[in-house]
Amino acid sequence: MRAAVLEEHGEPLSVEDVDYPEPQPDQVIVETEACGICRSDWHAWQGDWSWIGAGVPEGQILGHEPAGVVSAVGADVETLEEGDRVAVPFHLGDGSCSHCREGRANNCETVIPLGLSEFAPGAFAEAFPVREADFNCVKLPDEVEFAEMAGLGCRFMTAYHALADRADLRPGDWVAIHGCGGVGLSAIHIAQALGAHPIAIDVLDSKLERAEELGAVETINSTEVDSAPAAVRELTGDGADVSIDALGIAETCRNSVNSLGTRGSHVQVGLTTGEEEGQIELPVDVMTMQEIDFHGSFGMPLVRYEELFNLIAQGTLEPSKIIGDTLSLEDAPETLASMDDYETVGIPVITEF
Ligand SMILES: [Zn+2]
Ligand SMILES: [Zn+2]
Repeated sequence: MRAAVLEEHGEPLSVEDVDYPEPQPDQVIVETEACGICRSDWHAWQGDWSWIGAGVPEGQILGHEPAGVVSAVGADVETLEEGDRVAVPFHLGDGSCSHCREGRANNCETVIPLGLSEFAPGAFAEAFPVREADFNCVKLPDEVEFAEMAGLGCRFMTAYHALADRADLRPGDWVAIHGCGGVGLSAIHIAQALGAHPIAIDVLDSKLERAEELGAVETINSTEVDSAPAAVRELTGDGADVSIDALGIAETCRNSVNSLGTRGSHVQVGLTTGEEEGQIELPVDVMTMQEIDFHGSFGMPLVRYEELFNLIAQGTLEPSKIIGDTLSLEDAPETLASMDDYETVGIPVITEF
């Protein structure tokens, strides 16, 4: 089968023939119908995250935002059969630790990220295996298309968990969203759908225009103001109630914290780059005195999909709005490399394998 393989960090992915996977007893094989290309793929491709022991080895098949159809079922799998339409959230849990037993695969003690570990070849391929498939596969409702589900396995659900669960967003809240890539745009759409007032902040007008279409009530081009946090304060009076770093660099993280009013909540969604290596200085005294919360947010507990699918069925959330270009597997190397300049708008989704 065809697959896009990371042969060397920073060099274009190689689209080549590899062996079709065989299911282990706990696994299913999923034929990929759609897979998003994400900033996390770009980080892995750059060779980032060795500082948290999560560097991706050369030879890896990337791709962690898939939806597809079950094509083979391992001997111990009980709840899935050939032909089932499924999505696979990127955090593959073991299904047995205390967090998994509460439905929180995103906090699993032995989590394996799909497409970002040698133990989980990814979905930039015609097919890929899923560990502990009964636990990790999410059956798709009929009304959800494969391409829109591609974001529901990573950025869209990450944004939903960050806002609805970690920040406890309420209708009427001001939400500052720093960085309008796939997860930032998802957060804007979700924030307005939940009755909040999103403010979009980015350095590119093309992304801010998309943010406005998705419901941002205000936009700030941070290259055109002295201080993005000051601009947020001017718009909101006291500062934002919730602020998200949807990028993961020192500047957007600090801008996010500094955008908040008293008792505001910052949510860190972006993981950092080789510049920060996970370390960012923060105004701790101000955060203490103003009782500002700093939340980490990673993926989404699987038990939250039911609510997310309900909101999609009602038409409250429309994940298809975040899709950018659709492309073929052969185009994946070039699209990934083009993310160097941060100009991709929306989520690029591979739909031809
Ligand atoms: Zn992703
Ligand atoms: Zn677990």
